Amino acid sequence: MKLCDPALFRQECYIGGKWLSGQKTIPVTNPADDTVVGFIPSLGGGETRQAIKSAKDAFPSWSRMTAQKRSQILKRWFAAICDNKNDLAYIMTCEQGKPLAEALAEVLSAAAYIEWFAEEAKRVYGDTIPMSQEGKRIVVLKEPVGVCAAITPWNFPSAMIARKTAPALAAGCTVIVKPSELTPFSALALAELADRAGVPPGVFNVITGPAEEIGSALTESSDVRKVSFSGSTSVGRLLMRNCSDTLKRISLELGGHAPFIVFEDAVIDVAVADAVESKFRNSGQTCVCANRFIIHESAYAEFVEKFVKAVEGQLFVGSGLIADNNQGPLIDIDAIEKLEDQIQDAIQKGARIATGGKRIPGKGLFFEPTVLLDVTSEMKILREETFGPIAPISQFITETEAITMANDSEYGLAAYFYSRDVGRAWRVTEALEYGMVGVNTARLSSEAAPFGGVKMSGIGREGSKYGMDEYLEIKYMCIGGI
Ligand code: ADP
Repeated sequence: MKLCDPALFRQECYIGGKWLSGQKTIPVTNPADDTVVGFIPSLGGGETRQAIKSAKDAFPSWSRMTAQKRSQILKRWFAAICDNKNDLAYIMTCEQGKPLAEALAEVLSAAAYIEWFAEEAKRVYGDTIPMSQEGKRIVVLKEPVGVCAAITPWNFPSAMIARKTAPALAAGCTVIVKPSELTPFSALALAELADRAGVPPGVFNVITGPAEEIGSALTESSDVRKVSFSGSTSVGRLLMRNCSDTLKRISLELGGHAPFIVFEDAVIDVAVADAVESKFRNSGQTCVCANRFIIHESAYAEFVEKFVKAVEGQLFVGSGLIADNNQGPLIDIDAIEKLEDQIQDAIQKGARIATGGKRIPGKGLFFEPTVLLDVTSEMKILREETFGPIAPISQFITETEAITMANDSEYGLAAYFYSRDVGRAWRVTEALEYGMVGVNTARLSSEAAPFGGVKMSGIGREGSKYGMDEYLEIKYMCIGGI
């Protein structure tokens, strides 16, 4: 791997401030060319319990440290990430596949979460409440939850870790991260930089190995007081079930099926540009990607013509390490087969392909950016999360119909709509059963905003002051005899 600082490429786990290798290893492959990027330790329940113990031992001094000092350490971590952003982006592209420009943007976004929560560490305010009984006072304190586990997915190998870890550490919690086995090197590089920044041993740990075994050790332990997970709804559900015996706090950021509605009064060129950006970011592999397009009948012809032209003219598929490519590979063969299945099902039920539709032969897991027309609700593509570069388009006539179509999903993460009518902006936002709504924009993610979903898209919020609350307990002190 060509890095300015080769020491950032770690093939060991980071537990209790020490680097640990395993007797068994797991290869990590580059989805752009099937080559092996490196090997990670295959650690199990024993090492997970060791990490939990390290995090538990580190908790008293980390949580009692002044917020100012924790903030300074987090700021050093932020600065170290910024200083090494190009290496971090390169590592990410090699293991995940996304184009370098997107990887760099993600690294900076991860850094932004850490900086933002470094600031918030100093602003964990309590409360005083007027008491209804004489001679007593009510004081509300906020305290860190304790040892936390963060289980993270492959599609945002750095940002998901930062989004969970930064508020946890800022609040005074200690953390064990289990990254996806598909993209562990970004996590291990973050650990190397945390170590250099002076994050004390045991405060931030990264463990790799079989997901089920590590997951079970984390959920079974009564020392772990919170699990934060981003990933599939099925695994999220399982983790929630497994956390019930020890009654852990839980945050789940799960699947999505984002509708993208274009009303007749929208600025079509803006909607088209945002549609391309939202649908095809990370080759469609984000949980907030526009997943279905719902276009007013009077705007339909213009939208489809401009959208297909943009997809054909602006998207370049290939290795993310090559400068002009903006469409990297899919993460694995299952992802490709899911796309093929959704397309075949849609065609059988009457959809038409406007462009794309096939896997690109040869090395690497590449798929043509695809647009499907005449898509209807009984097709799989409008039910299952796609997680790939297919844009299914349907039409509507009335606002009520558009809202009904948009809400016709078990998911409720992000939704987008385009309209210049201010009354409609409020009406439709309030009617959409989603955790996040983009009105005339499809860029929602920000360290300052509460990210999260409703229904089968999860529980809890990440980022913003609300994201900090997820790592804080409320303690109420009642003082009598005054
Ligand atoms: P994705 O569809 O994004 O791969 P997954 O839910 O399969 O989503 O994976 C997200 C994260 O959850 C990864 O770190 C993965 O290793 C982990 N994971 C998968 N299965 C389990 C499990 N049974 N227990 C704990 N973690 C798991």
